[in-house]
Amino acid sequence: MSPTATNSGTKKTCQVCEKAASKTCSRCHLVWYCSEICQKKGWKVHKSLCNSEYQTHQYELHKKAFDTIIEKYNLKTAEKSTEISEILTNGTESVSAEVFAEKFSMDIKDAVVFLEWIKVGIDFKVTTSKNAGFGAAAAALAK
Ligand SMILES: [Zn+2]
Ligand SMILES: [Zn+2]
Repeated sequence: MSPTATNSGTKKTCQVCEKAASKTCSRCHLVWYCSEICQKKGWKVHKSLCNSEYQTHQYELHKKAFDTIIEKYNLKTAEKSTEISEILTNGTESVSAEVFAEKFSMDIKDAVVFLEWIKVGIDFKVTTSKNAGFGAAAAALAK
């Protein structure tokens, strides 16, 4: 087995045995393993790091998912963002993923992520600062 780079560029090595790796920690995706066996072996060491990295990267992962949803359903338009902010401001208590899913023809699981993210509200204002209404609604909800 010659270690020719199949994936051009970055070469990943297993945290445990330093062989070529093809799997990442399924939680934080920051460390690489060649196999599940090595992942299990490495877990004891990686565990505490993973927990803190996980927290940080949850944010990144959610952000990514959120951005994907925004793109997928083209929710960044002024029209859509106005609609969304109206839904959010007109009855925050009754806002549900179902409402969003129906209104914007979203997959229910996408709607759940979308709504959760809005409720968390992190960075949402910044990302959508051009759409003032949208951002304001998110900010209100995040309180
Ligand atoms: Zn390994
Ligand atoms: Zn991890």
